[in-house]
Order: sequence, then C-alpha cells, then structure tokens
Amino acid sequence: MTTIQIRADLHVHTTYSNDSLITPKHLIHYAKKNGLNAVAVTDHNYLTGALKIAKDTKDFLIIPGIEISSTNGHIIALNITEPIPQGLTATETIEHIHTLDGTAIACHPYVYFKGCLRNNVNNKFDAIEVINARAFPFQNSIKKAKETAEKLRLPQVAGTDAHYGPQIGYAYTTIDTTEPTAEAIAKAIKHGHCQAHGQQVPPVLNLQQQIQRLQRMVNKIALKI
Ligand SMILES: [Zn+2]
Ligand SMILES: [Zn+2]
Repeated sequence: MTTIQIRADLHVHTTYSNDSLITPKHLIHYAKKNGLNAVAVTDHNYLTGALKIAKDTKDFLIIPGIEISSTNGHIIALNITEPIPQGLTATETIEHIHTLDGTAIACHPYVYFKGCLRNNVNNKFDAIEVINARAFPFQNSIKKAKETAEKLRLPQVAGTDAHYGPQIGYAYTTIDTTEPTAEAIAKAIKHGHCQAHGQQVPPVLNLQQQIQRLQRMVNKIALKI
C-alpha cells in the first residue's frame, strides 16, 4: 500500500476562540503560504467552528479538533464529531475522546503561562506535543516533553498554538498516511507514523499579534462611543 506524507500544523486557534485573530480565510492562506498541506483547528473548548471550517473548505485539508481545558491541564482531541466538556479530569477527558474514536494529545505539557499537564501525562494519551512553537521556556519544554514521550513510548507531534496568521507552520508534524483524510491522519498518529519538527515563533510575530489585538479592542470601543 502506498503512503503519502502530510505536513500539518496540529495546533491552531481561529476567531472561534476569543483570543485568536485567525479568520478561516487567513487560516487557509497562511497554511498554504507556509508550506503545509493540512492544518488542525483546535479552538478552546469549542468544536462547532472547526467542523464548519472543515465542511466549508474544499481545497485544503482541515483536521477538526478541540483544545479542552481539563482540571489537570490542556488536552487536544483530533477527529471527533461531538464536543467534549471542559472541567473533567485528564483521565475522564481521555476516556471521553476514546469513546468518540478520537486521538488524545497532551499539548504543551511543560510550559509556563498555559494550562499544562506536567505529571498528569501518562500512557493513556495517544501522543505528546513535544514542540509547541509558542512555548516558554522553549528549549527546556521540548527537552522535557521528548524525555517523557520516550519514557512512555508515545508518538511525538508538533504544532504552533498560533493565534495570528503568520505564526502558522513554524512547528509542524509530518505524518505518513494511506489516505489524505482527517480520520486516517488521526489514526496514523495513534500508530506512531509521525515526526515532530519546527522552531520557535519569532518574538516579532508575537508582538504584532498583541498590537493587532489591542487595535481590535480599540476599534470595538470606538464603535460603541
Ligand atoms: Zn493550551
Ligand atoms: Zn492552544
């Protein structure tokens, strides 16, 4: 059976997350521009947007996902069709994801300023996000996540956690799959047919993101006056 290699950013937030500037149009534009051939939409505790973008996009592969706030830290679910509630424990969240036949990823497990799992990462997960392009401290978080993945013998993936279009693609996962579908890709990750790559998002892009967020807030206030 022939396999094809997919290059996907597995962690992107769109405007369906309140804190992101990425419209569906920006998502596709920057994913293509930055050399990807798939992208996972993983909005905070909200699946409907990802499902809509996947349905409406005909010329690019969208993997619907969600980033769930469990009581123990953030968890990404890929390829699910029903939302998973926030506020469950990590174990309950993983069980819920598996009931829906989805793929459970421990995202940014060792970082500051994000909800991270730390010692709640276990081998019930299907994969670990070892590179998060917006992690702090960047190198140390990769080292710790890779050590954990190797110890638990779990597949390693990467994503940017982009909230601003130009950030998309700085970290990405290559996946060997038999079919270019969200379902086949999510299964291939479970089987470990994937590799994590990437680098840190340049600080200037994070600064631009903050400036644009402020501009958006100012515009909103100006409209109300
Ligand atoms: Zn997160
Ligand atoms: Zn995120």
